[in-house]
Amino acid sequence: MDRAVVTHAHGDHVAWGCGSYLCSAEGLGVLRDRLDRDARVRGLPYGERIDVNGVRVSLHPAGHILGSAQVRLEHGGDVWVVSGDYKTDPDPTCTAFEPVRCGTFVTESTFGLPIYRWPPQAEVLDDINVWWRANRAAGRATLLFGYALGKAQRLLAGLDPGIGPILTHGAVERLNARYREAGISLPATTYAGSMDRKADFSSAIVVAPPSADGSIWTRRFGPHATGFASGWMLVRGARRRRSLDRGFPLSDHVDWPSLLAAIAATGAERVWVTHGFTGPVVRWLRERGLDAGAVETRFEGERDDEEAEGAPTNTSTPNSSYAE
Ligand SMILES: [Zn+2]
Repeated sequence: MDRAVVTHAHGDHVAWGCGSYLCSAEGLGVLRDRLDRDARVRGLPYGERIDVNGVRVSLHPAGHILGSAQVRLEHGGDVWVVSGDYKTDPDPTCTAFEPVRCGTFVTESTFGLPIYRWPPQAEVLDDINVWWRANRAAGRATLLFGYALGKAQRLLAGLDPGIGPILTHGAVERLNARYREAGISLPATTYAGSMDRKADFSSAIVVAPPSADGSIWTRRFGPHATGFASGWMLVRGARRRRSLDRGFPLSDHVDWPSLLAAIAATGAERVWVTHGFTGPVVRWLRERGLDAGAVETRFEGERDDEEAEGAPTNTSTPNSSYAE
């Protein structure tokens, strides 16, 4: 593949090894961070149209993570929109989702089942702060896991810095820098690896990627409680499998009602469903008279907690640079 239009910088949405990349201007820093140093990357401001082989291409906010975009394609009166991953809930760390009118909408369906309905995020963030405070009172550190790109920064923005110091895993701290460069306000954080191992961590919260859970890296914090923020935590079994102390249902994807509302807002008559529970979503849309079908992607079948929220899975991903 010579050219790629990238909706966002999560590993399962970036085609590695392309000659050149187009992404949103907002997402330029985080995408550059993940690609080879010599990759050609161009950032396009949201809403600005360019011509690619006679097709008018523009990018529109998807509200998923910093720089996430829906791709609008217009040719001969036909308008297609490819959503990438998206959410309609507000998020202070990225531009809000914007519905785009189109004839054909290609939507994700990561949480496309009626059981997925997110509680209000203010409640979830409040629960996290209450849990952190209780851990501090009990003299144990708080380890909060969330995907390093996007989820971690949204969590950081929701933490109450008055409770104690906020520490980060290297993978998170590195992306924090890209977020701050893009003008996103995050509370002060300290890279945990820069701290004396004999320090007292009992009042601290440590934000780390899920892959750090159960690793030797966690031992330095002494007695600690673990929690994981992910949409999958809505289902109790997912938390038990990972033997976590707490699960917090906070997702960067749309839940069932928001998915259906977002599809309706496009006015699309044809909907292609991909990345997730395609079958139930297609059935639901067809029953309502829409021309709907499932599209396979190269990455179909990623159902693991971390990967479905966008972890790199391709072996050519610069994963090693993400290790602490
Ligand atoms: Zn994603």
